[in-house]
Amino acid sequence: MTDCLFCQIAAGEIPSTKVMENDRYFAFRDINPQAPTHVLAIPKQHVASLNQTADPTLVGELVLFARDVAREEGLADAGYRVVINTNAGAGQTVFHIHAHVLGGRSMRWPPG
Ligand code: AMP
Ligand code: ZN
Repeated sequence: MTDCLFCQIAAGEIPSTKVMENDRYFAFRDINPQAPTHVLAIPKQHVASLNQTADPTLVGELVLFARDVAREEGLADAGYRVVINTNAGAGQTVFHIHAHVLGGRSMRWPPG
């Protein structure tokens, strides 16, 4: 989708700080980090939100890619959080599915 911010980031048309990439997924640093490490993991394929997919391969690969990002960022042992905000009530502002990978501090529960 040409007018989608994260499609443009995945295509390299809008700059980002890349963390990891493979042929189907892309990870980059959040512009407004909520933790010492805050990375967004996205599929290169446009999917608006978790509500818009029934593809277990895409959802599974996205979560495992987020796990690999956490591992690469050195968060695996201390712990990290993977979050997929879905629709406005959960705070989704960019409608291209993305997994937040947050770590580097202790996380509170329940989240706000
Ligand atoms: P969400 O609110 O779950 O939709 O998450 C969208 C995230 O994208 C927010 O945490 C924003 O800070 C982040 N964001 C928005 N624009 C950019 C950008 N150009 N580069 C990196 N992160 C961005
Ligand atoms: Zn998109």
